[in-house]
Amino acid sequence: MARDIRTDTYLGTVVHVVADRQNRPNLPIAGCPFCVGGLEAPEQYSVRSFPNRWPALEEGYCEVVLYSPDHEATFGTLTADEALSVVNLWAQRTQALREMPNGEYVIVFENRGAEIGATISHPHGQIYAFDHVPPRPARMIAAGWEPAAASGEHVILERYENYFMEGLPYLDRIVMRILPDESTRAIALESGELQMSGFESNPRNIVRLKKNDALHVSSEGYAAIGPVNWLAFNTKGEKTSDPKVRQAIAYAVDREFINKALNLGTAPTALTGIHPGSPFYDATVEAYDLDIDKANALLDEAGYAKGSDGMRFALSVDYGWPAMKPYAEYMKPQLKKIGIDVAVRSSADFPTWAKRISTWDFDMTMDNVFNWGDPVIGVHRTYSSDNIKEGVIWSNTQQYSNARVDELMEMAGATNDANKRKELYAEFQQIVANELPLYPIFASPYHTVSSTSVGNAPDSVWGTSSPLDRVYLK
Ligand SMILES: [Zn+2]
Repeated sequence: MARDIRTDTYLGTVVHVVADRQNRPNLPIAGCPFCVGGLEAPEQYSVRSFPNRWPALEEGYCEVVLYSPDHEATFGTLTADEALSVVNLWAQRTQALREMPNGEYVIVFENRGAEIGATISHPHGQIYAFDHVPPRPARMIAAGWEPAAASGEHVILERYENYFMEGLPYLDRIVMRILPDESTRAIALESGELQMSGFESNPRNIVRLKKNDALHVSSEGYAAIGPVNWLAFNTKGEKTSDPKVRQAIAYAVDREFINKALNLGTAPTALTGIHPGSPFYDATVEAYDLDIDKANALLDEAGYAKGSDGMRFALSVDYGWPAMKPYAEYMKPQLKKIGIDVAVRSSADFPTWAKRISTWDFDMTMDNVFNWGDPVIGVHRTYSSDNIKEGVIWSNTQQYSNARVDELMEMAGATNDANKRKELYAEFQQIVANELPLYPIFASPYHTVSSTSVGNAPDSVWGTSSPLDRVYLK
């Protein structure tokens, strides 16, 4: 078989099968063809395009674009000027291919990695021109899609008549508007301009919207996503390596105050790293209810006596994005009560915070981590001793390690017996609540806000991340 055009049975769309591409030379033996002096780049260049000798599509045109003469570079390592040269070349070649007789549609893309068949590691991508607009972009254009700059950002979902469930979906079309500003969204909900919004998490806005009779405000729909907010400890830190220090801090932090005063009662309490909406949640773990005397006693026991100024030692607390700031700032006056001098450390941007935390350059940090349905997906990663990975945020950045905890997670991940799993995760939660690599505080106050004119507003465990196929307008 060489080349074949087939039809996707479910979507009715065209699929190109290009089996003869398997016969192309894989990694050329005579060195890299894209390095200067190689087969495809005889002359010096900074960026370069040329026709692909081994195009995946028979129809249309295919070009290869070289991003840099440096064999080790990637698009991400280019300087801004070098990247701009690549973008300019894309624009120029897109224009040129559009002007060719069959250049109805032009797409710029890059495949990387031997795993998917891109065997030459030299930084390069492709430009393909087709003699027709492919079906999906054609449908997007027919549904009114325009480039963002012209129309404001939105995504249009259209009812699919061959949807696999009879009679669904109910709605003909959903326009998803991208409104990053939470106040703008609140106003649009109040004015009726928006019928529904998910993941609303500003406590003040939630309280305000709840007072509006034309709106339904619900915290249902986030149990599977399972966002848990906690104070994480570096368990290899000089002071925070001692479980007594971590427990003392937990006793000094007033979870109830945080949930009442900072979250205005909009966020569920979380006592463990498993979301309270999960069937595996164990509410019987040590809760570390506020107890300043006990906290002070634990620090004395740990050998950190108070100095003449009432202080014992200093620690820093990080936060990675603005919503986490109030919780980090709360730690300073609160932990002063037990003689810990806390410095609140902000980061210029998310990558700066992620790098600090994932290279273990921290004492404590506020964090928000998602369960993603099953604990195997979103919970194990935080505690598993083989997931202590330098440079990887939301791995086991606490550097916590306990052989029994590893064993419990492995057993719970290897059985489908729900009761057995519940038992294993209960023991797991009891151990980590005692050793306390992190102190869970609350589940994010995510809410779905919908107009009372919306029927079947999504309230399953996946909420607005579910198909929305039963939602209708009254
Ligand atoms: Zn090369």
